[in-house]
Amino acid sequence: MSADRAAALRSLPSVDQLLRRLADQEEVRGLTRARLTALVREALGQERTRVLEERAAPAAAETLAARVVERARQAGPFSLRPVINAQGVVLHTNLGRALMSPLALERLGAVAAAYSNLELDLARKERGSRYSHVEALLQRLTGAEDALVVNNNAAAVLLALETLAHGREVIVSRGELIEIGGEFRIPDIMLRSGATLREVGATNRTHVRDYADAITPDTALLLKVHTSNYRVVGFTADVSSRELVELGRERGIPVMEDLGSGSLIDLRPWGFPYEPTVQETVASGVDLASFSGDKLLGGPQAGIVVGRRAIVSRLQKNPWNRALRIDKFTIAALEATLYAYEAGTALQTVPTLAMLTEPLAAVRSRARRVVRRLSAGVRERLGASLVDDLAKVGGGALPTVELPTVALAVGTNAEAAMRLDEALRVGDPPVVGRITHDRLFLDCRTVLPAQVSILARALTAAAARL
Ligand SMILES: *Cc1c(COP(=O)(O)O)cnc(C)c1O
Repeated sequence: MSADRAAALRSLPSVDQLLRRLADQEEVRGLTRARLTALVREALGQERTRVLEERAAPAAAETLAARVVERARQAGPFSLRPVINAQGVVLHTNLGRALMSPLALERLGAVAAAYSNLELDLARKERGSRYSHVEALLQRLTGAEDALVVNNNAAAVLLALETLAHGREVIVSRGELIEIGGEFRIPDIMLRSGATLREVGATNRTHVRDYADAITPDTALLLKVHTSNYRVVGFTADVSSRELVELGRERGIPVMEDLGSGSLIDLRPWGFPYEPTVQETVASGVDLASFSGDKLLGGPQAGIVVGRRAIVSRLQKNPWNRALRIDKFTIAALEATLYAYEAGTALQTVPTLAMLTEPLAAVRSRARRVVRRLSAGVRERLGASLVDDLAKVGGGALPTVELPTVALAVGTNAEAAMRLDEALRVGDPPVVGRITHDRLFLDCRTVLPAQVSILARALTAAAARL
């Protein structure tokens, strides 16, 4: 390093100097001292790099402090925080999937703030089961003999395979050996559970005789997996749950179906394609069915298993179940969500269902309300216009469904769209949209009514940075 660069670096303020400068700034008040120190070090590190690379003079302490304040304002005291989903993907795994209903929030709050009867049978004053709070509801709603809830559906599948098929074979159709993003792949889960995968049929066609021919004394389970996030179209054939159950009964082998999303409501009246509900799957006679709590059901993250009592209780007794167990928050939110289904209020109160079934006119009027809250100047600067577009269900559920929606399109060219996208993402609260045809689309189907004015404010702030 040359002597002048070394001198330039030496003229940078120290961490302590910057911290003293920031001490009484309103914007950094909520931050812990350690977090603020980390932000200061980060700003100094970046400035050091800039001074060396651009052979520039170091910024003044005041400028550096302002940068830290700006970063603190954007980042806030907490890492995990609410985001406005303007991407139009209702069940967005990266954005936290399902939102909780007001009732679920109320139950969560009540149970979190006080001791609870989580594992106490109050009437008998003896140890109870945490699952008892949702078991009866799940039995009534699905018609199953018994139910169990674990951490998520991946855990449910793992637990079932480990319990029923460790050291033995599981028959699965080649058309159903799916990967659901992240690390969930049927063949990998199978391997980890200690079961051996026996693939049958072809990618596009599997017949019941393919399963029948593959059965040996080593066969422990016939597994059917919902091809959630993709569709095989054209010359295809798969085996229905009912046919598989018939074969399983004949040969004395249990049948499990991983439903993926698993809906308790037939959504055809709202224009969705036919999907067997959990109740229908249970009625087909499968021994076990599993599905996610936070996909179409619209509850907290959970893996719900329903089925025959003798088999569910084997899963319950597996030590793995203890490692995969749900906490009281999940139970409280899940009970409230299931309660809404039983009370017949789920379509109105469970946010996922409300968003999926909301009429286009209501989405349009929400989009208009956002526009009305922008000044004429901001509107012009953003080049704001309303565009009819298509939103998605997401979460690997109903991948071919396109939901009619209205987006607020902003940015008059690709460069402006990218700048707005960035400004909104790092704003407070962050807004996540999608870039389409060189414009930033803010899809209003997933923007909550209560977020209309917040979104307008965020857009006004972002416009100022153009
Ligand atoms: C989503 C999905 C899973 C994983 O469920 P998580 O609740 O996310 O663990 C498993 N199987 C299928 C078919 C799915 O669609």
